Amino acid sequence: MVDLQGQLKKIEPQIRSKFDEIFDNTQFIKGDIVKEFEKDLAAYLDVKHVISCGNGTDALQIALMSLNLQPGDEVITVDFTFAATVEVVGLLGLTPVLIDVDPNTFNMDVNELEKAITPKTKAIIPVHLFGQCADMEKILGIAKKHQIPVIEDNAQAIGATYTFSDGKKQKAGTMGRIGTTSFFPSKNLGAFGDGGALFTNDDELAEKIRSITNHGMSVRYHYDRLGVNSRLDSLQAAVLSVKLPLLDEYIAARQQAALWYNEAFKDCQNIQTPFVAGYTDHVFHQYTIVLKGIDRDALHQHLLSKNIPNAIYYPVPLHSQKAYENFHFIPENLTTSITLSKSVLSLPMHTELTKEQVEFISAEVLDFIKSHS
Ligand SMILES: *Cc1c(COP(=O)(O)O)cnc(C)c1O
Repeated sequence: MVDLQGQLKKIEPQIRSKFDEIFDNTQFIKGDIVKEFEKDLAAYLDVKHVISCGNGTDALQIALMSLNLQPGDEVITVDFTFAATVEVVGLLGLTPVLIDVDPNTFNMDVNELEKAITPKTKAIIPVHLFGQCADMEKILGIAKKHQIPVIEDNAQAIGATYTFSDGKKQKAGTMGRIGTTSFFPSKNLGAFGDGGALFTNDDELAEKIRSITNHGMSVRYHYDRLGVNSRLDSLQAAVLSVKLPLLDEYIAARQQAALWYNEAFKDCQNIQTPFVAGYTDHVFHQYTIVLKGIDRDALHQHLLSKNIPNAIYYPVPLHSQKAYENFHFIPENLTTSITLSKSVLSLPMHTELTKEQVEFISAEVLDFIKSHS
């Protein structure tokens, strides 16, 4: 699905030299390189504050902790996403409310949002799934009307750009009260281990978030609030600081690969290729197709048998997961998530894909479809 080795080969000397510096100064935690990376990422995203942390799941949890929510408060998010988004809501004693996604973009169905808001709603978490932004202008409009803070789960769309109807452009993760991301190795900006970050333009909130990542400490050994221990370490920051200047190149390579796939599939009635909404670009964390009139699981197995990696993101919508059965979700309202979980398939997508590889993969997909439709 990803070719981290191919990508790594090209930047190995720079990373090794940064590692050498860290071996010499032994600032493994809280090194200057972490601060520098936060600054560089803030400049790239054009956001005032970047606060790094241990992983993308922590980032979501810390974001919720920074908003003073009370047990029983409701947090609206989507049914069709990675578990972390819902898990942290439950861990904090809050109540997740799941709404459906749009069948074309796979992102929050904004027509469902306002209906789900109650007096207990205290946060909304849109997820920029697979690499394109959710419809933030509409989401922010509804949130503002009801004075509810928005946390963008931007683990999959770092570097994507949203265009507002007045032409103003903003990077994914910088439009809501808080944005979160993950530097898990296979994410679009990936480290050599776990890592994450939060973004905000609010000075006071930034200070609070930084304190929460460090046990809720204000002045050394004085604690103002409950916090956690969640840090990006120096070695990860070194990797990320080498990759950040290449992020736009990486995105362009993914977009090129997506165009090759689109071209190969353009005449196939059984495949819905990724739809990119007009208000966003797509950084293709995943290249995900929807199969129509074709047994998705059979295709999945067939490709695996041919040693072609492919994956199902996500095979079971969150509302029907055993872990969350106490939350009493209403499946009747989540029909698109259910349909997508049975029909989506993600094909290999990374920065090192060649045209030949994409043509080889798509030919196998099309062959299967021809003989099964
Ligand atoms: C990867 C991911 C996360 C969690 O990130 P980790 O660094 O693995 O904790 C959260 N939300 C989404 C949508 C993700 O894809």
